[in-house]
Amino acid sequence: LKSLINIPFSKKSIYKVIPERVTGVDLLEKLASKTTKSIFLLGAAPGIAETTKKELEKKYESINIVGYHSGTPRKKDEKEIISMINKAKPKLLFIAYGAPKQEEWIHRNLKKLPSVKLAIGIGGSFDFISGKTKRAPLWMQKTGIEWIFRLIQEPSRISRIYNATIKFPLRVFKESLK
Ligand code: UDP
Repeated sequence: LKSLINIPFSKKSIYKVIPERVTGVDLLEKLASKTTKSIFLLGAAPGIAETTKKELEKKYESINIVGYHSGTPRKKDEKEIISMINKAKPKLLFIAYGAPKQEEWIHRNLKKLPSVKLAIGIGGSFDFISGKTKRAPLWMQKTGIEWIFRLIQEPSRISRIYNATIKFPLRVFKESLK
């Protein structure tokens, strides 16, 4: 929001990369381009994790994706999913269940996954990489208003956007006053 307000007053704010912002999809791509460590892709709609695997393998020759599983994080499926991940023995686990489900999933299950050294909730990243959803233009990403583009594409995200742009910053602000 601050970046958006800054635009008319400062040209710099359009070109400046906001150092705090690290999106799931950029982080995933960056790691995928560099690491040969084993990776597991978990989450997103049926078929999306598999397409994401294929797309990443096309792009990054040395990538090592040892497994994937799409679908909603139902508690009753958790045992089966954990056993599937443990069989694949990945070091890196990318989880696309959206916030906060993915973080809650990691909190509940990381200790049951001995091979996993790093688990990251990466939101809608698989949707972008698989081509299901279009990413915002670069200027929107750079000015911190990618969320507006995503909201236009998926109006049902309104409560997610409210939480991220109003509720969460307010809570952080209140915490900082304590
Ligand atoms: N998702 C899922 N199961 C759920 C809810 C979401 O697999 O119960 C997937 C959804 O298909 C999408 C991903 O979670 O691929 C991320 O959702 P969202 O775009 O809300 O995440 P954000 O990027 O906003 O954190």
